[in-house]
Amino acid sequence: MYSKYLGKLGNRMLRSITVSAMAIIVLTILSVISVRFFLYENIQGQRILDQIDESVNVLHNSLIDQETGQRGYNLTNNPSFLEPYYQGMEDFSQSSKALAELMIKYPSLTAEIKELIEKGEYWHHHYGEPLVEMSQQGEAPSLELLSAGKQALDEFRLSSEVFFQHIEAERTVVREKMQTGIQITLVSLVISIIAIVCINVYINYRVLQSVVRPIIHLNDCVTAYTKHDFSKKIPVYERKDELSELIRNVDQMREELSSSFHTLKTEANADGLTGLFNRRYFDEYLEREWNTAKKEQKCLSLILFDIDYFKNYNDTYGHLEGDECLKKISHCLRTFQGGSLNFAARYGGEEFAVILINRTEQETRCIAEGMRQAVMDLNIPHASSDICDCVTISIGVATVIPTDRMEINDFIHMADQALYLSKKNGRNQVTMYRPGAE
Ligand code: GH3
Ligand code: MG
Ligand code: MG
Repeated sequence: MYSKYLGKLGNRMLRSITVSAMAIIVLTILSVISVRFFLYENIQGQRILDQIDESVNVLHNSLIDQETGQRGYNLTNNPSFLEPYYQGMEDFSQSSKALAELMIKYPSLTAEIKELIEKGEYWHHHYGEPLVEMSQQGEAPSLELLSAGKQALDEFRLSSEVFFQHIEAERTVVREKMQTGIQITLVSLVISIIAIVCINVYINYRVLQSVVRPIIHLNDCVTAYTKHDFSKKIPVYERKDELSELIRNVDQMREELSSSFHTLKTEANADGLTGLFNRRYFDEYLEREWNTAKKEQKCLSLILFDIDYFKNYNDTYGHLEGDECLKKISHCLRTFQGGSLNFAARYGGEEFAVILINRTEQETRCIAEGMRQAVMDLNIPHASSDICDCVTISIGVATVIPTDRMEINDFIHMADQALYLSKKNGRNQVTMYRPGAE
């Protein structure tokens, strides 16, 4: 069974439900057949017992008829009494034949039936027949013979009474066999159905679990992606169905989104001319690091620098050459100390900013000094500079451990203040911020 609307997942569940339903139907049919069989067995058994009952009854009555005829003939010598005697003989032989056939159909009563027939025949051969012959020959039977005949007949009677009780007991046995058979069948049916339903529930639970768990995980991942967190890996899913296709597609989407997002973010944070971070990202980054440094009570340093006499440079070499100069300095900044600076941005125009985390004032000063020297080492000619024949920079540095009483703008202002002093004191130098220094 396959439905194209349900896909592989749905068909897997449909298959399990169909197999269970078919198993239940087959079991129910088998049980109905089995119950019918037990009912039929009972009816058959009871019918044969009825026939045996009836034949034994005839056998019993036929012997009584023989005995009545024999006794009447002995007492009166009237031959009309021989009629029930011979009729009894005939009936006895008929019912004996019928019982012989019934014994084959119902073998468990064979011994009793044989015994009964033998006792009847015994009476007939040893007493019935001899007593009739004696009367025919005009002889009077002895008292011993008569009483022995009566005893043999009583034994026959007693056996047939016991036999009737036996038949009743057999009827109960047959009925109980049927009841037990039906009970076993119904109990087996109920147990089998419960087992099948349980197995089915378990299988479907496993199928659902194998599907729902990855979906929940997938949902977590996709939720993370909507928050631009692409680090969450999609769950591993072994089966080959619609879900695995969905997972594969979402994973591909994740990779594409992640790389597009990364590119976009980098572009959005970068300065177009220099490739350094832009002012917008500088503000964002500084705020983040400011809060971290405040929380962890660590040093945060800001280095601001400005190209000296850059207006003159533009005027002398042209704006395009000015742009080239900015690029060279930016490149120098990026590669400074093997690119180990935490953060470098173009602060605006020909001003740049570097943020250092967890460096002492002394270390920061050294780095700033190194930067100044590195720019000079670029040896970019600057004919219109008042202080040097190559391009130089002036630097202002502030290092603080942020506190609640301090604002970020104060921090920037401190570095700016220091830069102002560098300019004021002759340019091409590094100035550390000192409170109160003008
Ligand atoms: P100081 O030593 O005092 O800093 O003098 P300065 O001439 O460098 O300072 P000023 O503020 O007078 O001039 C800055 C110049 O930087 C003016 C502007 O044309 C130039 N500038 C700003 N941004 C760019 C840019 O993107 N490209 C070019 N080529 N020049 C720029
Ligand atoms: Mg400037
Ligand atoms: Mg300048």
